[in-house]
Amino acid sequence: MGAGFRSRRPSPPTKTAAEVDELIRRMRGEQDKGVNYRERSLKLNGWICAHCAREFELPTLHLLTVHHKDGNHNNNPADGSNWENLCSYCHDDEHGRGLLGDYLSDRKPRG
Ligand SMILES: [Zn+2]
Ligand SMILES: [Zn+2]
Repeated sequence: MGAGFRSRRPSPPTKTAAEVDELIRRMRGEQDKGVNYRERSLKLNGWICAHCAREFELPTLHLLTVHHKDGNHNNNPADGSNWENLCSYCHDDEHGRGLLGDYLSDRKPRG
């Protein structure tokens, strides 16, 4: 609020403590939501797709995603019982079928 004309400028070399603080907070917030459970699931289940058994390495790891078995992204038990590592193809397939099934049976959408 207030400084709205700096969107395309490179970051200035001097940042106030408050700005740095907010940056860190923003980064933490994103990690809590997205990266945290994915890393845990990758550690627990290994870098392998649970459906097609394709194995992944660091350069391709972004293709391996975490599926929530019950469709609830907020349900992240520490033992990983709600997580399944799926490659992007299998994950797509999983949700495609799930959504189609939900449409047909008129149930609420899954995650
Ligand atoms: Zn797969
Ligand atoms: Zn999923």
